[in-house]
Amino acid sequence: MAVDFSHAGRTVEAARRALAARLRNGGVDSPELDARLLIGAVLGLDLTGLIAQAARRLTADEQMRLDRWAARRIAGEPVARLLGRKEFWGLDFALSPATLVPRPDTETIVEAARDIVRADGRQDDALRIVDIGTGSGAILLALLRELPRATGVGTDISLDALRTARDNAVRLGLSGRIAFVAGDYLAALAGPFDLIISNPPYIPSGDIAALAVEVREHDPRRALDGGGDGLDAYRTIARQAAGLLADGGTLILEIGQHQGDDVTRLADAAGLAPHGRPRADLGGVPRALAFRRSPR
Ligand code: SAM
Ligand code: GLN
Repeated sequence: MAVDFSHAGRTVEAARRALAARLRNGGVDSPELDARLLIGAVLGLDLTGLIAQAARRLTADEQMRLDRWAARRIAGEPVARLLGRKEFWGLDFALSPATLVPRPDTETIVEAARDIVRADGRQDDALRIVDIGTGSGAILLALLRELPRATGVGTDISLDALRTARDNAVRLGLSGRIAFVAGDYLAALAGPFDLIISNPPYIPSGDIAALAVEVREHDPRRALDGGGDGLDAYRTIARQAAGLLADGGTLILEIGQHQGDDVTRLADAAGLAPHGRPRADLGGVPRALAFRRSPR
């Protein structure tokens, strides 16, 4: 006798496949990955759990939550916003509407900083680090993980972002080595610092409307908007940083596409010279520039 399953929920595996197909048809770029992350979050399972429980059936409530998320994802909301979390440097970061979703490309900044510190043989020193525009705290917390004796200051103009960064520091067990300060770039700080790091807003204002909906409607405007030519933040940061770097200290900046020459020129005008070559991200785009005080 045939068994009627029509009223029973889909299995995890069938739901995952149906969701991936729905996301793909809705024009989502990474439908398989997004489907896995969304189902995993609804069921509270990681990848291994999803595989182990592939035959378990979804409840009506779970299916409903998944359907709602699918509709929002297709309308342009990033998975990280739906979940309120994003992995960066292998660490789990909570997000809020005031924080940028940390990007994989930004791990290039962490790598550049780590490698410069190692090349100087200073990985076990009590380095003083500042991360300007810390957002979720991603760059600074990743670096404090890498550098066990370093201490850091995270600054941001957004108090909401700083609250989220502080919560992340507490959850990652790093709050004892970190302070958060609200202010305009470095204006509220006294140095000296061994490492000054920033992924500042660098999109030219007029280009924001043409960005993907995920970015333009879901990342905070002040995390993106670099002014008319995209370089406003670099003008201020280069000038302020030159006065706050310790002897032998390094400024490391994330840049957008084609901004390398302009940022190098602004740094030069502030008395800073390139240190090493630009470091490219996974897509081969120059992403991290390092500077030190020019020899006098
Ligand atoms: N560091 C985080 C990351 O890489 O994921 C966030 C980078 S986001 C591109 C730029 C950050 O700079 C935002 O958190 C924004 O609030 C902050 N910001 C914008 N203008 C600022 C200013 N004048 N002073 C300090 N922070 C500012
Ligand atoms: N990398 C982000 C993007 O491409 C921009 C972040 C920034 O302005 N620093 O949307």
